[in-house]
Amino acid sequence: MIATTGKTNLLGLTQPEMEKFFDSIGEKRFRAGQVMKWIHHFGVDDFDAMTNVSKALRDKLKAIAEVRGPEVVSEDISSDGTRKWVVRVESGSCVETVYIPSGKRGTLCVSSQAGCALDCSFCSTGKQGFNSNLTAAEVIGQVWIANKSFGSVPATIDRAITNVVMMGMGEPLLNFDNVISAMQLMMDDLGYGISKRRVTLSTSGVVPMIDELAKHIDVSLALSLHAPNDELRSQLVPINKKYPLAMLLDSCRRYMATLGEKRVLTVEYTLLKDVNDHVDHAREMIELLKDTPCKINLIPFNPFPHSGYERPSNNAIRRFQELLQQAGYNVTVRTTRGEDIDAACGQLVGQVNDRTRRSSRLIAARELNADADSAPNAASAP
Ligand code: SAH
Ligand code: SF4
Repeated sequence: MIATTGKTNLLGLTQPEMEKFFDSIGEKRFRAGQVMKWIHHFGVDDFDAMTNVSKALRDKLKAIAEVRGPEVVSEDISSDGTRKWVVRVESGSCVETVYIPSGKRGTLCVSSQAGCALDCSFCSTGKQGFNSNLTAAEVIGQVWIANKSFGSVPATIDRAITNVVMMGMGEPLLNFDNVISAMQLMMDDLGYGISKRRVTLSTSGVVPMIDELAKHIDVSLALSLHAPNDELRSQLVPINKKYPLAMLLDSCRRYMATLGEKRVLTVEYTLLKDVNDHVDHAREMIELLKDTPCKINLIPFNPFPHSGYERPSNNAIRRFQELLQQAGYNVTVRTTRGEDIDAACGQLVGQVNDRTRRSSRLIAARELNADADSAPNAASAP
């Protein structure tokens, strides 16, 4: 467990929050912009290095505030340029952050929770149970740490990180407020200045929070679909019992409609050998998605010990892709990166101290099933 200092951590404060902080200590609001630039553009955590801030204010800040990111436990660089950080958060668990360079693009894959309570059957994070929500400082802290490691100064000019995807450990919509604050900082010019099109939130389908999201932010949305009917999806992604496909796709369409531009949903589909990779599944998916403008990203399963699943053959992957393409979809297959440092999608393990005791997890699972029985469209498998 990392000791808390009782000081206000400025790292996770959005611009309005930072202004409020300076107001509350009797200082001018413009200080917010100055300090945010030092923190996010220049990666500074030492108030004494903030040279356009008076000595008196620096001393005051040192006494009551801090700039504290999660503790870096390790940083590995793969032969293909992929980087992985393991960071320890306040709850004592470790989470992972991955950087994937590809041409002019550099994508940072950020974690939102230590572990995950949703227990998707093919996900190693889910298999570890849930420990804690990351604070806003711990979410944006992953961008801050990655950015510093590239020595990009200032961060917004010499960009190593062009895109951020909330596709690390955890379900971002179940840590809503902290993830929203962190994504606002990713897009803010006083933060990392990344365009809203290049910040993507991936969800397994927490329907009420997809609707809530639209009221707060306009980032890109990715939906983890993984199955073309309710029966199979409920086996792979248990939250489907509570929020079945018809309801889920409706909420995604509503969200995309609020963006009001030519932006399309990304549909992620992890291909599992002999489970969801048959020709019939592709046909069913074409029918399911016919009213939902989207691009499709196929993720061949990344194995981990005792998963019980296998990756389909390259032929099966290609056949699945071609069927969707023939129906007019834009379909990409995610290539595995950083294999030598275990940085692939779904392989992020961290070190999670599961807090949900097995008995309470079973009760939660039973409640989910009971809820699903009474939910509209619950058993509407096509
Ligand atoms: N919780 C969110 C975001 C994190 S997971 C979500 O589920 O969308 C990011 C993506 O990796 C999801 O689409 C997830 O289903 C997928 N994934 C999880 N485990 C995987 C594995 N072992 N192989 C391939 N993809 C996996
Ligand atoms: Fe959680 Fe996403 Fe893994 Fe499902 S796939 S267990 S929602 S992290």
